[in-house]
Amino acid sequence: MNKPLRVIGLLGGMSFEASAVYYRLINEAVRQRLGGLYSADIILRSVNFDIIARMQTEGRWDDAGQYLADAAIGLERAGAQCILLCTNTMHLVANAIDNATQAPFIHIIDETARVLRDARCRRPLLVATRYTMEQGFYQARMARHDIDVMVPDEAGRAATHAIIFDELCQGKILDTSRDHLTGLIETAKAQGADSVILGCTEIGLILDPAALPLPGFDSTVIHAQAAVDFAMIA
Ligand code: GLU
Repeated sequence: MNKPLRVIGLLGGMSFEASAVYYRLINEAVRQRLGGLYSADIILRSVNFDIIARMQTEGRWDDAGQYLADAAIGLERAGAQCILLCTNTMHLVANAIDNATQAPFIHIIDETARVLRDARCRRPLLVATRYTMEQGFYQARMARHDIDVMVPDEAGRAATHAIIFDELCQGKILDTSRDHLTGLIETAKAQGADSVILGCTEIGLILDPAALPLPGFDSTVIHAQAAVDFAMIA
């Protein structure tokens, strides 16, 4: 008998490079678990990232929250039974989305925290956009799980942000940038970090979590796995 799967709603496009990874990871995991021709039941709402990125640079977070909440309502009306926001940064407005919809919101920071705790990591370096590293929401949410997040210094944060927006979100993967990010992780290790969170959904495009100076946790992989766990329960 065919096993029914719950419908996964992906709110993506931020950037589409990352959303494509979610799509592949979720489908591969379903096929791996169920075999044969099984694949995930997914609805993807992919926004124009230029609109969101402008709101970010202008600090129009409420507008961005409203925009994404409307998009999430559309996903739910289309039949999504859960919502995943396929970007760490825009979890800054997660409440606006969660409050506007009935379907469970699978929160990328909570899911990442659970995996860190299972691995007994409590002092991770966060590699992410400037917004995620500096606006406080990420650290506050991790603190709920007793996880104390470190970030790179100012120069490291600026370089990481530029790598994300000027390269990874535009499909460019450069060895020099991989070396730079690896250097930041080496520095954090010397300062007491016990792990590293790939806390931007594009970072896995350039860093292999298994090949880092510290145990690596890829938020995209963790989030995608949580979606599959949800879908399987039906
Ligand atoms: N996808 C990225 C993240 O996980 C950055 C893009 C954005 O600002 O939404 O934060």
